[in-house]
Amino acid sequence: MLQLSRFPIKTSKDAQKVSDNRSTSLLLQAWFIRQEMAGAYNYLPLWLIVLKNIENVVREEMNSVWAQEILMTSLWNKESWLKTWRWDTVDVLFKLPASGNKEYALNPTHEEVVTPLIGEFIQSYKDLDSMSVYQFQTKFRNEARAKSGLLRWREFLMKDLYSFHKNLDDLDVYFEEVRQAYVRVFNRLWIGQDTLYAFASGWAFSKYSYEFQTKLEIGEDNIYVCSDCGQAHNDEIVEWVFSCVNCKSAKYEIVKTSEVGNIFKLGTKFSSSFGLNYLDEKNSTNEVVMGCYGIWISRLMWVIAEYMMDEKGLVWPESIAPASHYIIVIWEDNLEKAITLAKEIETKWWNVIIDDRTGKVWFGQKANDADLLGIPNRIIISPKTLEQGGYELKGRKENEGKIIKI
Ligand SMILES: [Zn+2]
Repeated sequence: MLQLSRFPIKTSKDAQKVSDNRSTSLLLQAWFIRQEMAGAYNYLPLWLIVLKNIENVVREEMNSVWAQEILMTSLWNKESWLKTWRWDTVDVLFKLPASGNKEYALNPTHEEVVTPLIGEFIQSYKDLDSMSVYQFQTKFRNEARAKSGLLRWREFLMKDLYSFHKNLDDLDVYFEEVRQAYVRVFNRLWIGQDTLYAFASGWAFSKYSYEFQTKLEIGEDNIYVCSDCGQAHNDEIVEWVFSCVNCKSAKYEIVKTSEVGNIFKLGTKFSSSFGLNYLDEKNSTNEVVMGCYGIWISRLMWVIAEYMMDEKGLVWPESIAPASHYIIVIWEDNLEKAITLAKEIETKWWNVIIDDRTGKVWFGQKANDADLLGIPNRIIISPKTLEQGGYELKGRKENEGKIIKI
């Protein structure tokens, strides 16, 4: 339960203009975030609740494919990055000078960490029946031109999962399980129907990689959707002429999207660099085959905010909202009733915000803030509603409330 009289929220009347991105303006106006510098944000309490709720949805689905949660370091040694030849080729790698004439990397991705780490636990084929790990970790990119809003962050949160297999067939089976888990994640976050599964350019080991792209007018990517079968393609793989990878059709439409996840078959690229091998049934040595699977958690939060918002402000899916109910209290005498009601609601739902601000915060502002913050249900307890026998309950998208007797 969160009482606004105890929490210094002071929504500003007008949204600050942030590039072409209205959701960021709303998040600033509603006290969810503050920008530290271009491409780096501080998360305030309500945004942190949304973040934790999203993490929990993702965590449940990753656990459902038998992945184990770990947490790796952000700092990593230069030697590992030299082994994979990426110290000098990843142009956004943050390089950190340290004492003793050393240099470290602030990781933008964790293959260089996870491969030798998990290598410790893999000796024989028996260790590779179901071996996958994931983490929620802050990643860094040394962007020359970081931008406000959705794109080009210097610091961001990511869920990354890595899987380890005996051969490509096993990888293919697990890859499909994770893909289905991703579909469940985006459905639970209410963006599933507009999130496309797109073919993108691949690596030496696989022809394609795959992206999850959510339709968004301000999206940074152009996705080519086949007019005949609906298959989506990243613009990297249709550079010259469009030919659907699925049905070979040449007809397409271009859709603006923002990327919320990507999945790759890494093959043996990293196991080769780190000598990650296993002994098979015949006692011969083979290289471990790997897959990696990312969800851009921070960007996903913005995408949901941008996708769901309406003319009144933010709109949160019930699965991740910072609170299930927003109780507006009119007259301090009614605060006790609100607290009792909030406790009752919290036995069935998850969190209640009580707007018991006094002074110059009148009903109109409280009602506007309930809409601006995007809380799914609004309750009013006032002398008028009590006269009618209870409180008024209204959904965020409804125009009229109804009286619930108490
Ligand atoms: Zn097609």
